[in-house]
Amino acid sequence: MALMTGAEYIESLRKLNTKVYMFGERIENWVDHPMIRPSINCVAATYDAAADAAESGLMIATSNLTGHKINRFSNIHMSTDDLCKKVKMQRMLGQKTASCFQRCVGMDSFNAVYSTTFEIDEKYGTDYHERFKKFLIMVQDNDLTVDGAMTDPKGDRSKSPSQQANPDVFVHVKEVREDGIVVRGAKAHQTGSVNSHWHIFMPTIAMKPEDKDFALCFACPSDADGLFMVYGRQSCDTRKLEEGADIDLGNKQFGGQEALVILDDVFIPNEYIFMNGETEFAGMLVERFAGYHRQSYGGCKVGVGDVIIGAAALAAEYNGCEKASAVKDKLVEMTHLNETMYCCGIACSADGHATKAGNYEINLLEANVCKQNVTRFPYEIARLAEDIAGGLMVTMPSEKDFKSDLVVGKNGETLGEFCTSLLGTKPEVDTMDRMRILRFLENICLGSSAVGYRTESLHGAGSPQAQRIMIARQGNMEGKQKLAKKIAGIEDK
Ligand code: SF4
Ligand code: FE
Repeated sequence: MALMTGAEYIESLRKLNTKVYMFGERIENWVDHPMIRPSINCVAATYDAAADAAESGLMIATSNLTGHKINRFSNIHMSTDDLCKKVKMQRMLGQKTASCFQRCVGMDSFNAVYSTTFEIDEKYGTDYHERFKKFLIMVQDNDLTVDGAMTDPKGDRSKSPSQQANPDVFVHVKEVREDGIVVRGAKAHQTGSVNSHWHIFMPTIAMKPEDKDFALCFACPSDADGLFMVYGRQSCDTRKLEEGADIDLGNKQFGGQEALVILDDVFIPNEYIFMNGETEFAGMLVERFAGYHRQSYGGCKVGVGDVIIGAAALAAEYNGCEKASAVKDKLVEMTHLNETMYCCGIACSADGHATKAGNYEINLLEANVCKQNVTRFPYEIARLAEDIAGGLMVTMPSEKDFKSDLVVGKNGETLGEFCTSLLGTKPEVDTMDRMRILRFLENICLGSSAVGYRTESLHGAGSPQAQRIMIARQGNMEGKQKLAKKIAGIEDK
């Protein structure tokens, strides 16, 4: 089957019976819902880019399984070049959407599950890898979007999955049947869940033998019986429900999305189960998925950063302070921080290596350093953008005030005329353009898009401490001590 266009992807979502809840109600036509649609447009951009001649070089890959031309989002990376192209693709899409385009979680799960199932089979003689390859070929040939679902609600953090008072806070096997299993539980803050055709569920932490029922990896259609989602609120999200909303939205076209995914006794046939009880491989799968997703942030957040830097530079220009050395220096600092994240994304890709299964994995230490920087730098970039933009970003009147014909002045001036002239800067700058750029910055620094640029940068792909644990593990302190001893002339006694 040919690759889908963005429009075809959107139509394909209408054919699903995905169950979505928001504000305490089921949303029947979620595809056209004004709060959800920008996030669908964002995934659609990953399809349209593949059809775009200028972008297809990055977007199209060749399947190692079939030789077919596929969207890179369903690719198994077979070289360091593939890994670098992935990051470049993500930066490009971040630049186009200034949002989270959601499809990476599936791609990152494919690559982690591909190598992990190979190693489980090697130890246990299971056939998970073949099952997974069959599933992936179906995904590739139908150009599907898949949510990689990892994070369980986790309940009491001091207890393991099997010790929880409520076992449902970790996805687990409820019943074993001859032809499959019945699963129960949930995954929290799932990026792109509603917009995905399928989900791959993975364990969220390393597990011990007693957690056997929780060491699970499987694929499931998004509209399976018993699966439903509760849509996540975002700051200022109901602005999208305002009639004729445009400038006040900041980013009208694109956005990200997260949801709570609930598995209320869902049947999973054997062919879609890729791990079931092999507890010692749960940690490997988590580490690999997290590693790929930490690499991803060295692309997507950098692309969004490019747009923020551009917006801050425009705000300075509109204010007439673009030549001020302090402003120029802040823009340099923002660029420096942004490119540092990108350097990490490219470095961990260029330093990647082949797994036993043959696909390529990033350098885990460098991918974790990448993400650790991403937990900090976007905050500083956003701070500097707010600094350059000025307080008007959060105090200015609404779009309706600027456009109001209400006569309020003693000389017959309208409310709109007062706002437009008093908040104007120089003749060549349209006040509405100034308002647009400030609203964009508000949206990305504090509004609905701040979910993707700020909090997701902190907690997505694992919170900062998760990377520090990996950095400690991968940092080879003993090797570094040996280097120091040798140069300093210290003999081992
Ligand atoms: Fe992709 Fe970035 Fe969104 Fe993760 S946060 S799904 S890497 S765009
Ligand atoms: Fe993410």
